[in-house]
Amino acid sequence: MGKYVIAGNWKMNKTPAEATELINAIKPLVADASCDVVVGVPFIDIPAALEATKGTNIGVAAQNCYWEKSGAFTGEIAADMLRAMGVGYVILGHSERRTYFGDTDATVAKRVRGALDAGLTAILCVGEYLEQREQGITSEIVAMQTKIALEGVSADELSRVIIAYEPVWAIGTGKTATAEQANEVCAEIRAVLTSLYNEEAARAVTIQYGGSMNAANAAELLAMPDVDGGLIGGASLKPNDFATIVAAAK
Ligand code: PEP
Repeated sequence: MGKYVIAGNWKMNKTPAEATELINAIKPLVADASCDVVVGVPFIDIPAALEATKGTNIGVAAQNCYWEKSGAFTGEIAADMLRAMGVGYVILGHSERRTYFGDTDATVAKRVRGALDAGLTAILCVGEYLEQREQGITSEIVAMQTKIALEGVSADELSRVIIAYEPVWAIGTGKTATAEQANEVCAEIRAVLTSLYNEEAARAVTIQYGGSMNAANAAELLAMPDVDGGLIGGASLKPNDFATIVAAAK
């Protein structure tokens, strides 16, 4: 399916000095990775992360971006600003942004548009709350989030979109989806992509699983046919655990 990408989401952790230290610890452990490796760092850590990853196989992601290029938007960071710094990726629509900071399907779609226009690769997060899974509407929720976020995204641009399926109930909770549950929804997302684009384009998209993926469960999740990588929170802050996950992505 899509190429394997393991991306760390550091969330609101690490000062610039600590970011340098963590990347320096990760670097030698993932130097031989057969997948793409990305670290998603807080905005203020971006210069340090770019410097520490220079000449390595590690890409740098921001954790959000705004869609306007400039203007009176206090506290926001434009996608173009990230690109100008040399950032390659941006995580968008993470459930923590949707739950705590008011991101909606509509604003996530605008952020995706801004990111793609700026030349970034968007890591688009989708996923259901526990009540939605229990109501049996996981497929509908995830399909809706995917379709709205990709409104107006061309087949060409789709090559710069990574989708992270992250069941909200599994994020930071230590509760992982089973490999079968993860694969089932990732396959459904791929079917949505086939309906929006075509089979070839859908097969080329990297669809990650995220939600308490760790050194112990990564191999089983990553062995599933429709799981092309992982978005890793807690375990991405532990160099050896992150490296074990990277090594499992073959
Ligand atoms: C995340 O933040 O996207 C995530 C999956 O977190 P964790 O791995 O800690 O569940």
